[in-house]
Amino acid sequence: MTSSFNQFRELTWVDLTLWAGKKIVSDGKECYQRKEVREISLTKTGGILAWVDAEELFATLVEYDDGELYSECTCHPVENTCMHSIAVIIEFIVHLKKKLEIPEAKSNDRRFYLL
Ligand SMILES: [Zn+2]
Repeated sequence: MTSSFNQFRELTWVDLTLWAGKKIVSDGKECYQRKEVREISLTKTGGILAWVDAEELFATLVEYDDGELYSECTCHPVENTCMHSIAVIIEFIVHLKKKLEIPEAKSNDRRFYLL
């Protein structure tokens, strides 16, 4: 889990832009700034699970799979990823920087069933 923490911590805007594209990153930044990310939590495999309360409530999961960023979201993005995932990543990095505690998601967390 520690290694995935470090992978997230070392992410740069350039990395995010290469992964998601400029538009999604800038939309994700705005989504983060509107404080739409709720109940951020960790999965057992070092992923990040959150609700994003945007135009509707989305469940979002971001993790590293074989060293590559990977996301799932109930907005069913047509692209590689979506702005909700970017907002969740930013929220997570801010939590790490502020040393805020992030709870572990329960195995029966509703979001696992939605994704
Ligand atoms: Zn989404």
